[in-house]
Amino acid sequence: MCIFCKIVKGEIPNQTVLEDENFLAFNDINPARKIHVLIIPKGHYDSFDVIPPKIMTAMTEFIQKVASKLEIKQSGYRLITNIGSDGGQEVPHFHFHLIGGEPVGKLVR
Ligand code: AMP
Repeated sequence: MCIFCKIVKGEIPNQTVLEDENFLAFNDINPARKIHVLIIPKGHYDSFDVIPPKIMTAMTEFIQKVASKLEIKQSGYRLITNIGSDGGQEVPHFHFHLIGGEPVGKLVR
């Protein structure tokens, strides 16, 4: 079982930001910015590349609620999802990184 499935099952502790029947948002253990929250579906999907579009629709609404709860809708934030090895994905359970709470900078090479 992957580490995020263990978090969903309560076998590994997490700092929950928001939860509903299908999704969980929790603080990243190694935050890259002042706010760094991971948002996952409770069901296991290896990455964005295999996620059913129907789940993305519900997840969009959930992410917007997370942003409301964090009070960053005005200041803004960035969503990132890493896919596979070139994408830099380490945990093979689809997740978005939501980062913010400060200017996150530009995507530059
Ligand atoms: P990625 O490289 O996109 O797969 O991102 C995986 C993220 O999971 C990293 O930012 C890690 O810091 C984070 N992470 C790994 N284990 C945990 C954990 N137990 N609780 C919270 N975040 C975690």
